[in-house]
Amino acid sequence: MYSSPICGRVMAVPSYSRGVHSIYRLSALLVSCAFRTVSDEAALVIAGIVPLNELATELANSIRTEARMQSVTRWQARCDRGSKGRWTHRLIPNLEAWINRKYGNTYFYLTQLLSGHGCFRSYLKRFGHDNTDECSWCGRGIKEDANHVIFECGRFRSEQTGTGGHHGQTHHGGQPGHEHDRDSRSNARTQES
Ligand SMILES: [Zn+2]
Repeated sequence: MYSSPICGRVMAVPSYSRGVHSIYRLSALLVSCAFRTVSDEAALVIAGIVPLNELATELANSIRTEARMQSVTRWQARCDRGSKGRWTHRLIPNLEAWINRKYGNTYFYLTQLLSGHGCFRSYLKRFGHDNTDECSWCGRGIKEDANHVIFECGRFRSEQTGTGGHHGQTHHGGQPGHEHDRDSRSNARTQES
């Protein structure tokens, strides 16, 4: 896009460029059903959408398959050394394998786990929707975040093995579109990690 004459001129205008990037970001958030606080980096990976600058380079190349492979390689390198979307990168370290997978569509609950932004108490407290980040199942001051829910929480281990009772309330519910996703335009502007 930047490499083609017309799109290059469009993207050279700051207000147009911001608008295009905002729409592109919003598309990634919608495809992945992500909260508006999810970074561009994480949202694009989860959605499997090639970053805009890489797409622009692809469009300028007549051999699209080769261009896609090259853009994924550059995208991978950027993700490997990036500072945002680190949790997502930990879970999805190989972009090529992720975007070419033949199964496993993303959806709201999966995206919460993959992005780390969701109905976890640490996230809810961070944005003023809860007064504690303590896991309601484990207690003892243990923070409930995506890492805890996936790898540590006894609640899900007991559900997998069919043992144990219920120690507390779960916060893993709700759909974006309420207080976290009321304004899709601000969705495209706000990002954290
Ligand atoms: Zn727990």
